[in-house]
Amino acid sequence: MADIEKTFIMIKPDAVRDRKTGLIIDRIERCGLTIEKMEKCELDEDLVKVHYAHLADKPFFGDIVDFMTSGPVVKMVVSGLSAVSKMRTLMGATNPLDAAPGTIRGDFANDVNANIIHGSDSLENAAIEIERFFG
Ligand code: UDP
Repeated sequence: MADIEKTFIMIKPDAVRDRKTGLIIDRIERCGLTIEKMEKCELDEDLVKVHYAHLADKPFFGDIVDFMTSGPVVKMVVSGLSAVSKMRTLMGATNPLDAAPGTIRGDFANDVNANIIHGSDSLENAAIEIERFFG
């Protein structure tokens, strides 16, 4: 049986800049998930580097840091049954070119770097990321 989970979600600077925040929240709520916490904020470079530390050796790491600090994000805690995997399904593949139509990235993103949304990839990482961003 599915458990009620909490996951960490972040609407990235491209989507906030393009005023897609409302559309994305609508999709999350339509799936039966609940926004528990939400705040618009700017990320400092050090926090982005910690958050994406698993990609520190990739050639595109600098682009991630530049992009994620290019404007405000909207960070959220989202809860519901199987919230972690449900959000990953709703978001679609990391590369929007591979993301299915009907997913958030499939419908709104075109670029693997500026791919609209972040969502925790496991329950364990969700707890770490909620603590990292909301303390
Ligand atoms: N990313 C990128 N180029 C790549 C792979 C990833 O710019 O080839 C960026 C992209 O913004 C992605 C983030 O790095 O969302 C984190 O990548 P991860 O593999 O953790 O994917 P996610 O969990 O975001 O789907």
